[in-house]
Amino acid sequence: MSSLTEEIKIIIVGGGIAGLASAIALRSPRHRITILERSRMLRETGALISLQPNATKIVNSWDISSFLEPCQPMVDKAFRLFDVSGKLVNEVHLDTSMFGADRILYHRQDLHSALLQAATSPKLPGPPAEVLTGKKISSCDPEAGLVRTEDGEEYVGDVVVGADGIHSVLRNSIVGEPRAAIPTGISAYRVLLPVEQLAGIDIPKHILDPSNPVTTMVVGHDRRVIMGPGRGGSVFGIVALVPDSLAQGESAADSWVAPGSVPALLEAYKDFPEWMLEIFRRAPDVALWQLRDIDPLPTWVRGRAILIGDAAHAMLPTQGQGASQSIEDAEALAAYLVDLPAGASGGQVNEVLREIFDARYERASLIQKYSRQQARPGTDANSNEVKLNPGQFMKYNCAYEGAKKWAETVKGAET
Ligand SMILES: Cc1cc2nc3c(=O)[nH]c(=O)nc-3n(C[C@H](O)[C@H](O)[C@H](O)COP(=O)(O)OP(=O)(O)OC[C@H]3O[C@@H](n4cnc5c(N)ncnc54)[C@H](O)[C@@H]3O)c2cc1C
Repeated sequence: MSSLTEEIKIIIVGGGIAGLASAIALRSPRHRITILERSRMLRETGALISLQPNATKIVNSWDISSFLEPCQPMVDKAFRLFDVSGKLVNEVHLDTSMFGADRILYHRQDLHSALLQAATSPKLPGPPAEVLTGKKISSCDPEAGLVRTEDGEEYVGDVVVGADGIHSVLRNSIVGEPRAAIPTGISAYRVLLPVEQLAGIDIPKHILDPSNPVTTMVVGHDRRVIMGPGRGGSVFGIVALVPDSLAQGESAADSWVAPGSVPALLEAYKDFPEWMLEIFRRAPDVALWQLRDIDPLPTWVRGRAILIGDAAHAMLPTQGQGASQSIEDAEALAAYLVDLPAGASGGQVNEVLREIFDARYERASLIQKYSRQQARPGTDANSNEVKLNPGQFMKYNCAYEGAKKWAETVKGAET
């Protein structure tokens, strides 16, 4: 526990989006934050990621725009859905007035670096977070607030935050039983190209204009392509979903780096328009990710430890809410830990962590469920008629004003 009575020591396991966002949200003169990361923090690789309005609103409140601006973030203006014949079947417009903030597209590496800089910069209030890399945690004693690296080093905090991703080690200690990530039957090919690589491809302008920040989806029965520009329009990102049985490559459950097979990707999409196949052929490389999620856990909290991010509620990427939910968790930690007295007992810490769990659990679990629903086949078999609607859960997902307000609204609705 903290030796100084005025300070609260917070150990964050994992320096991904959830861990870094939490370090930023928790920065305060009385918090001493240490992030323990197993890698050397160089791992985020080439892909785009979107933050939804619910997350953007929180990120905006952290006043870190000077760190984010160099990422050349792009405000996404709409979702456009096409069937495989190229017919526009649905268009969902997005603008700031709808949810008080925008849906923003980032390059994953850029977002990760910006969050790391903000977490560790002396320019923000409170002491910068200390980031220790090469620290692979192998066990946790939640009651003692203690984590141990595989080399036997021990770190103790007043609060331990388990942000160690989909294959979390802390999850088993906190839940009290093994809860592994579940294959969902879907794999994702990821492609990222410099936008110049698209030159000369006969892409119908009404479907795709890479200079226009819009998310375009071409939807088939059990496969679909989601694409759009990033990094100020200099790159173009694609996610192509296929059933696991059609995925070929070194499928990786938790990494962006496993190479996928371009011939297998082309074969899986042979009924899609030729211009799209040509984009795939020009990809410098293709990554493959077998998509997994977890069922809602019985708890995220034990003793002085709490799970957040994918460790707590890994979900399918079909609504682009995984990182956004991690950012909501970060906001919730800060909103509730502000009430924790310095020198708090294990019981007091546990009580506050349970409040966070109560505020966050139902919402995150429902968004996990909605993400599974959005993964259902996009059409009936042998039909082009698209049934998918990306706007279906948007209001629930995006109209969010922070954990305390959410908890009050839910409580108000119950009484
Ligand atoms: C194909 C695909 C597309 C996606 N697109 C989007 C999107 O557009 N928008 C969105 O919001 N979300 C998206 N997501 C989801 C999003 O990527 C995740 O929800 C988010 O990255 C989770 O962040 P995290 O910090 O919880 O986990 P991670 O990013 O996995 O970070 C965990 C960190 O913990 C470290 N770690 C792991 N184990 C240990 C250990 N034992 N000791 C120490 N450190 C450890 C890891 O090295 C890593 O740095 C997508 C996911 C996929 C698969």
